[in-house]
Amino acid sequence: MNLYSGHMNKLIDELASLPGIGNKSAQNLAFHLINMPKDRVNRLANVMMETREKICYCKECCTLTDKELCPVCANEKRNHGVIMVVEDSRDMAAYEKTGKFEGVYHVLQGAISPMMGIGPSEIRLKELLQRLQGDVEEVIIATNSNLEGESTAMYISKLIKPTGIKVTRIATGVPVGGDLEYIDEVTLTRALDGRVEL
Ligand code: ZN
Repeated sequence: MNLYSGHMNKLIDELASLPGIGNKSAQNLAFHLINMPKDRVNRLANVMMETREKICYCKECCTLTDKELCPVCANEKRNHGVIMVVEDSRDMAAYEKTGKFEGVYHVLQGAISPMMGIGPSEIRLKELLQRLQGDVEEVIIATNSNLEGESTAMYISKLIKPTGIKVTRIATGVPVGGDLEYIDEVTLTRALDGRVEL
């Protein structure tokens, strides 16, 4: 769309390219931004830049963090022998919010999806297997309950089974196709408590 001046058009195009933001919202956001005091726009731009630059993956669990180890992995009070496998950092945050899980996580940064061309080597599986060399008593698979999440769970359980480590899957109280991050804390806790051995 070329309804405004060059800079304004550019801003609207950039905003519209973000997920979940259509042209109308992009236009509204752009107008909001140009009406904001300059120092606030600066602060917003700086936070975005800084976050993008400083963010990295935890060397243990692969979640997004800005330190070598994320706060969960760095916490000695957590049970490092129980690893919950989730698809992304938002799922981890959802479980952290329940405050009911005392183990640690492994964040796959995705799920296996032949349709999208995402194979096992494209997610953080190698890192998970490396962690299993240590003292691990249980791996809880908490990938989403859609097709990709289920196939990923199956794939991981087949990989881990021969090691003799207990593999469990969170209960199916979680609606099919539901992203973990949108599910309420009670349901998440119930799914964890009702996990079944694979
Ligand atoms: Zn970590």
